[in-house]
Amino acid sequence: MSSDPFAAPRAAHGRAPNVFRSDEWIPMRQFDDSEEVDFVVVGTGAGGGPVLAGLAEQGYSVVGFDAGPYFRPLQDFASDETEQDKLYWNDDRISEGANPLTMGGKNSGKAVGGSTVHFAMVSLRFRPEWFKARSTLGYGADWPLDWREMWDWYTAAERALSISGPITYPWGPKRPRYPMRAHPINGAAQILARGAEAMGYSWTETPLATVSAPHGDSSPCVYRGFCRFGCSTNAKQSQLVTFIPRAIEQGAEIRDLAMVGRIEVKDGRVTGVHYQREGRWRFQKARNVVVAGYAIESPRLLLNSATDAFPDGLANHSGLVGRNLMSQSNQAAFGYMDEVVRAYKAPPSTTITEHWNYEDKKDFHGGYCWMAQGPLPIETTTIHTGSQGLWGSALRDEMLRYNHMVGLKMVGEQLPNPDNRVTLADDTDQYGLRIPRITYAWGDNDKTMINHALDQMVTSLGLVGAKDIFRQENDMNHLGGTVRMGFTPEDSVVDRDCRSWDIPNLFICDGSIFPTVGGVNPSLTITAIAMRTAARIGAMARRGELSATAKRTAHA
Ligand SMILES: Cc1cc2nc3c(=O)[nH]c(=O)nc-3n(C[C@H](O)[C@H](O)[C@H](O)COP(=O)(O)OP(=O)(O)OC[C@H]3O[C@@H](n4cnc5c(N)ncnc54)[C@H](O)[C@@H]3O)c2cc1C
Ligand code: SF4
Repeated sequence: MSSDPFAAPRAAHGRAPNVFRSDEWIPMRQFDDSEEVDFVVVGTGAGGGPVLAGLAEQGYSVVGFDAGPYFRPLQDFASDETEQDKLYWNDDRISEGANPLTMGGKNSGKAVGGSTVHFAMVSLRFRPEWFKARSTLGYGADWPLDWREMWDWYTAAERALSISGPITYPWGPKRPRYPMRAHPINGAAQILARGAEAMGYSWTETPLATVSAPHGDSSPCVYRGFCRFGCSTNAKQSQLVTFIPRAIEQGAEIRDLAMVGRIEVKDGRVTGVHYQREGRWRFQKARNVVVAGYAIESPRLLLNSATDAFPDGLANHSGLVGRNLMSQSNQAAFGYMDEVVRAYKAPPSTTITEHWNYEDKKDFHGGYCWMAQGPLPIETTTIHTGSQGLWGSALRDEMLRYNHMVGLKMVGEQLPNPDNRVTLADDTDQYGLRIPRITYAWGDNDKTMINHALDQMVTSLGLVGAKDIFRQENDMNHLGGTVRMGFTPEDSVVDRDCRSWDIPNLFICDGSIFPTVGGVNPSLTITAIAMRTAARIGAMARRGELSATAKRTAHA
C-alpha cells in the first residue's frame, strides 16, 4: 500500500489507519453502496466527527464521507510550513466583493477530521447572551437554542476533547473545571497578561484542545508550535484522533478521498448521495443524510443538488441557503520587545482576554477577544510584506528581529448580512461540479469594531514597552453562517435540531448553521451542537420520526 495519503483511499478493505501507531490499522466495518444505511454524514470535521460517533454509539449504521485524505499524524506531518499546504481546501473558488475572502489555509481543511486537523485548538464557550443576540443585545439574530442547555453540551464537548484550561474562568457563568490543567504560558502570552493588567482587564490561560499530561494514546504537548500545520505528536485533540476512532470502533465506516457531489431526492425525501472515489461516480443509499462540509461546501452541495422539485437547491424554500456568510475579524498588532520572546514556541495562543466580549459600553454591536500570537517564519514574512510593504534588505532586517517579536490578534464578531453569500459559479472543478462564488464586504459595524480592537491592542503593547508597533489591518479567519438555524421555515434553513425545514430526513450540522458568530473561535460550539444533534436525531429515530433502526454494529 502506498505511503502517499492522496494516492488511494486508506480507509478500505475493512480497515482504517490507526492514527496512534505507525503503519498499524484498526478494523472498520464496510457497507455496500446498495445497502441502505441509516445515516450518511458528508464531512468529518468539527461538526461531522461528533455526529458520526454519536450516531454509531447509539447503534445506527452510518457512513462518513470526506473529500480529503486520511492522514497518519505521526508519519504524514512535517515541521514545514509549505509541505503542510496539503491540509487545506485549495480547490478553485471565486472570491469577490469589497473585502474578498482569502480562501485556503486560514479557513478550511480537507481531510478526515476536517479543519480541526490543523486548527489552533482554542476552545471557548459563547457568551450566554449571544444565543439571544437580537432580543438581549439588539443586533444579529436569536438562536433557537437555550444557553443553559448548551452549557451542559459545552461541558460534554470539553470532556470529549480533554480541554486544558484554567481553574476558574474569569468571564461568564460558572463552569465546571476543565478536564486538564492549563498549559504553561509562553513569552508572548506573558506580555499579553502584563498588557491586559496595565489596562485593568482580566486575562487567563487559553482553554486548549491539546493535552497537558499523558492521556490515553496521546502524549503531552511538547510546545513545538506547529499546531496550525498539523500536530505530529498527537497531543492535539482533533476529531481525527478523538471522535473518528470512537465512531469506527462503534461500527461507523469512514470513506476518505470521497467527494460527495449531489444529494438525491425522491418524493420529497433524500435517498442517498452521489460521490466520486478513485475516479468513479457511485451512489450510496441512505435513509437520512447529514451535511457537515462547513460554511462554503455545505451550501454549495445543497445548491448543486437542485432538482425540478427544488429548483433553487435543497432546503432552500426560504432563499437563505448561502446567505449571511460571516468571517471573523482576525486583525493584529505586532511590536518588538527588548528581551527575547520567541513567540512561536508553544501553541499560538496560551493566554487570552475576553474583556470586550463581556463589556457592553462601546459604540458597536458584537464582541471580540484577543490572544497572544506566534506566527512561524513564512507566515511572519507575509505579514511584513502585506502589512508593512517591506521587501529586500528591509524585510531581511525585520526578520532578524523575529525572536523579539510579539503579536496580539483579535477574533471578532462580524454581523450577518444577507448580501455576503455563497452562490454557484458557472466554472467547474476537477470533479465536474460547479464551484462556489463567494461575495463578501465588511459593514460599518465590522469596521468600527476592527478599529477599536486595533487601537486597544496597540495601546496594550505600548504599555508593556513594545517598540515599532505596527498593525495587520486585513486578516480574516473562521467562517460561519450560510445555512442558518432558526425558529421558522421563513427565517432559517434548519430548525433547532439542525433538521431542514423542507426535507425531513436532511440535516445540516457544522459551522454553517450559526445565525451569529460571536467573538470567540467557533469549533467548541460546533462540536457541542453536533453532540447534541446526534443525541436529538437518535431520539427522533427511536420515536419513529425517522426511518432508521438502531442495530448494534460495533467492532468492539
Ligand atoms: C488554520 C485554522 C486555525 C483554526 N483555529 C481554530 C481555533 O483555534 N479554535 C477554533 O474554535 N476554531 C479554529 N478554527 C476553525 C475551526 O477549525 C472550524 O471552524 C471548524 O473546524 C469548522 O467545522 P466544520 O465541521 O464546519 O468544518 P470542517 O471541520 O472544516 O470539516 C468539513 C469537512 O467536510 C469535508 N467536505 C466538505 N464538502 C464535502 C463534500 N462535498 N464531500 C466530502 N467531503 C466534504 C471537508 O473535506 C472537511 O474535511 C481554525 C481553522 C483554521 C483553518
Ligand atoms: S505545540 Fe503541542 S499541540 Fe502544537 S504541534 Fe506541538 S505538540 Fe502539537
